[in-house]
Amino acid sequence: MNERRELDRYEKTMQSDNLMKEGKARFLEEMHKQIREMERLLDRMEESFDGPLPAQLYRYAHTLKGSAPVFGFAGVGAAAGRLADEWEWTLDGAATGPSVGECVANGRTSLMQLKMEWSVLQRQLLAGEPNEHGPRQYGAARADKLLVVDDDDVLRSFLVRRLELDGYAVDEAECVEAAKQKLRENAYDLILLDLMLFPQSGYELFDYLKEDPSLKWVPLIVLSARSDVRDKVRCLMLGANDYVTKPFEYDELAARIYNLLSRTKNFEQLAFRDPLTGAFNRRYFDHQLELELQRLARYPAPISIAFLDIDRFKQVNDTYGHAVGDLVLQGLAHLVQQQLRPTDFVARFGGEEFVAVMPNTTGGQAARLMEDALELARRQPIAQHEGLSIRVTFSCGVAEWPAGLPAKQWLALADEAMYRAKQEGRDRVVLAGGSPEAAIRPAPDDRTKPKRVLVTDDDGILRSILAARLKKLSVDVTEAADGEEALRYLTEHDVDLCILDGVMPKLDGFEVLKRLKADPDGRLRRPKVLMLSGKKREEDVAAALRLGADDYMSKPFSLVELELRVSRLLETEPQP
Ligand code: GH3
Ligand code: MG
Ligand code: MG
Repeated sequence: MNERRELDRYEKTMQSDNLMKEGKARFLEEMHKQIREMERLLDRMEESFDGPLPAQLYRYAHTLKGSAPVFGFAGVGAAAGRLADEWEWTLDGAATGPSVGECVANGRTSLMQLKMEWSVLQRQLLAGEPNEHGPRQYGAARADKLLVVDDDDVLRSFLVRRLELDGYAVDEAECVEAAKQKLRENAYDLILLDLMLFPQSGYELFDYLKEDPSLKWVPLIVLSARSDVRDKVRCLMLGANDYVTKPFEYDELAARIYNLLSRTKNFEQLAFRDPLTGAFNRRYFDHQLELELQRLARYPAPISIAFLDIDRFKQVNDTYGHAVGDLVLQGLAHLVQQQLRPTDFVARFGGEEFVAVMPNTTGGQAARLMEDALELARRQPIAQHEGLSIRVTFSCGVAEWPAGLPAKQWLALADEAMYRAKQEGRDRVVLAGGSPEAAIRPAPDDRTKPKRVLVTDDDGILRSILAARLKKLSVDVTEAADGEEALRYLTEHDVDLCILDGVMPKLDGFEVLKRLKADPDGRLRRPKVLMLSGKKREEDVAAALRLGADDYMSKPFSLVELELRVSRLLETEPQP
């Protein structure tokens, strides 16, 4: 069948895709938490065996059994399966299981196996992709980039591998010339420099760094076999930030690197952030915008900006005082930042004006995001003061970048749109070059409008993996942990596709499906429904389809297949 072939082809490209690795990492992270939870449950059961504890343990084991095979972790699936089998009696309701002591002891043995599975998989994963999942805990968004300059091949390659394991991106150079070359081609966050290099000494690189304004402030640590005080003094006077004598302990070097990088970051914070709101300042904005536009010249993609100005802000100041006005500014900056993705950024442009930059976002999408932010501002207080809840709205102008237009004129487009929003009555979003309605509710045939998907599953691991996976399809994903939460969300929001787990506590997926399809005014009947279930029995599939589900998948399932089915249900192209 054509579809089958399509699936095979897709599966192959998927194998080379490191998305799977990402999923695995996330799975292992969550699995670790769940193992700890299960240990805690066993501890508590030793004190008191009745109550909901055994059933909770069964649920953890059962969900792990279902989701592990999706990531190729058959060993985990089997160990979790054994654990689940041991506790299956909890399903009967009455506690008719084996004796307490026996149960807990067996549970501990199976849990130990799960833990061993986990530690091996985790180590394999770390060895396979040091950059993404190293133990380093700070600066999560982007790995700091280091340059190691040393002519000692053994030491250099050890440092590179070890630093990579700590999550850094590392380049290497064996001599001054090679280092200069690297420095011309890349931007580094820190340089490690050996003094005794051949044919030129490390000192030569000092001069080179000092003369270049863009390299002058890059943190520099000197590594040297010479512990001579004069050498140290000379390096520090020349601008080295630190000096480490060989042989050194790796941990000490790592601590010095960490220290220096975080201190540098603190300075950047001071230089580039607005102290009141924590948003970026104008200086950063101007600088970053130029960089973005330069990048787009090389890799064309849409980008949009939004100008926000608080409505009648002067009244807030006049009524409650300047200090409360400041709280409102903080609240609004926070609200907007929450709305955006990590690659977007918000700057305080002036007094009560903010600007948001959204790479890879069309004007329509940006307007929609801002409309969501505005909706939030309308619904919830932006600040609280002496028992008072203060609400504000804002007026917003959005402009997509007309390729090639200078930044200043682009900003003017967004500013004009914002001005129009004020004139038309405030509390609204206006898209430059579009009608206001188009900005607020894109027409149904607007291809740029991201589709909305609600993922409902009580298995937190699987849910977050599904959500991460679906975000790659450029859809807006919301998660719900049970049927009640899903129903509430569907009542308040427009959703294109609802993914429903069949078996959940409170309200199960079948019941949710029933209620959606029975909605008298039809709105809840609009979202398509994809049922997921551990139940494989024919009659369940039939029941779901009879209730009006658009598609049905049994766990464990292939993520690739899921993605294909979702794409088909949403009538979007699968991403190659
Ligand atoms: P509009 O809807 O037309 O934008 O009305 P508005 O009152 O918001 O506009 P206007 O620009 O007249 O007022 C802006 C006010 O913002 C005036 C100024 O006192 C206040 N403001 C500017 N910076 C700050 C600040 O840092 N803190 C506080 N509390 N207020 C500020
Ligand atoms: Mg203003
Ligand atoms: Mg204002």
